[in-house]
Amino acid sequence: MLLHIGIDDTDSPNGMCTTYLGALLYRELSRFGEPVDLPRLIRLNPNIPYKTRGNGAVALTFDILDEYVDDVKNIVVEHVEKLAEVDHENTNPGVAFLEGEVPEILRKFSLKALREHVTIDEAEDVAKKSGAEIVKFKLGRGIIGALASIGYPLENYTYELLAYRRLENREKERKVNRDSVFDMDRRFYPFTYDNVDPFKKTILITPHGKDPVLVGIRGIDKGKVMLAYESVIIEEDVKMVQLFKTNQSTDDHLQWKKIKDIRLYDNVIVRGKVASKYWEKGRHVFFEIEDETGKMRVAAFEPTKKFRNYVRKLLPGDEVIVAGGVKEHEGVLTINLEKFYPVKLVPKREYRKPRCPRCGGTMKSKGDYLKCKRCGYKMPKVLIPVEKPRDLEKKIYEVPPDARKHLSRPLVLPGAEDKFLY
Ligand code: ATP
Repeated sequence: MLLHIGIDDTDSPNGMCTTYLGALLYRELSRFGEPVDLPRLIRLNPNIPYKTRGNGAVALTFDILDEYVDDVKNIVVEHVEKLAEVDHENTNPGVAFLEGEVPEILRKFSLKALREHVTIDEAEDVAKKSGAEIVKFKLGRGIIGALASIGYPLENYTYELLAYRRLENREKERKVNRDSVFDMDRRFYPFTYDNVDPFKKTILITPHGKDPVLVGIRGIDKGKVMLAYESVIIEEDVKMVQLFKTNQSTDDHLQWKKIKDIRLYDNVIVRGKVASKYWEKGRHVFFEIEDETGKMRVAAFEPTKKFRNYVRKLLPGDEVIVAGGVKEHEGVLTINLEKFYPVKLVPKREYRKPRCPRCGGTMKSKGDYLKCKRCGYKMPKVLIPVEKPRDLEKKIYEVPPDARKHLSRPLVLPGAEDKFLY
């Protein structure tokens, strides 16, 4: 029979990573049955506050003889008990098991967990209705991600290869040869992407926390992802390497919405008009967007760096499509920009004074009339409109790689414009 296993919320900032547990179990459980496909790394709503890092859950599916099912379930629960960071106050692991085909109700729940906020009660209800078994540790919030990862349709996907270090090295700096990562990027970009930040000259494949991940290489071609990994020089012991199929870089989280329907923690794509000139506070850049149903604040926060310059170029009246996650900032619902597309730009006009019609001299403003500095000629103040270039192209603008959400599709990948088709 088909046995689906979902796991979530096993880590804390002090260590562990749900993918590590998934990779261990993928090996261990392959002794009992045939894995159906690769393990799946499913990223869920990036805006919810309980996440440790990237709100990732892991699902595994095995074709297994009925007689082994109980053993397999026990092994999964034992692994979570043993390895999850349960002593950490915000770690609330959850495990889900589902036998047979995935019912529609679980698919729907999964997409809700991707795009909106859901409660533990909702997860328990959906488990009951879909015949899934759940195991909760402490609050057991992890059952949300565990169930959602099983139900995720994964029609669009990319790959991530994760190499893990020994747990005893977790306090140490990761020993990955920097030049070899730049060489790898030169050879394999864009089939593997977000390997380096070409402007800051930093490498992005190594995380910085105490988790067991040594490097993560993302790509759209699994062969190239594996070759890319082999070309990176790693100067410490690698405990395990696992390729995952994932919904990262798919834009699956974005949902078209009218402003009046937008709720806290949604992931939205909205078309409207810029309703205010931008303003800045604490290096964050803000403006307002409006459609026929309401008005909403939009932000390009400080970590989006140069992206903010493009936002500053928007003018009231411009028609734009904006995409991002909805969070509360200073008590106001705010779309945290991931990408935007200027659909139609209003002309940018500046007004200049005419030259003196009598002598060609420079005119000076005097209340509501102009006076020539050279000959003293006076005339009513009629200024000449001059059209200025807008300096914004008809293209999608995206935040830089290190500010990008896992789910956001980099523009370099095929189909990155698809979500913006209205
Ligand atoms: P890990 O590496 O362990 O996966 P993480 O950054 O993914 O770390 P978690 O520790 O898993 O974060 O915490 C996320 C928590 O939020 C989990 O308990 C998960 O079940 C829950 N969760 C996921 N999606 C939603 C959602 N849409 N609404 C409410 N809770 C959610």
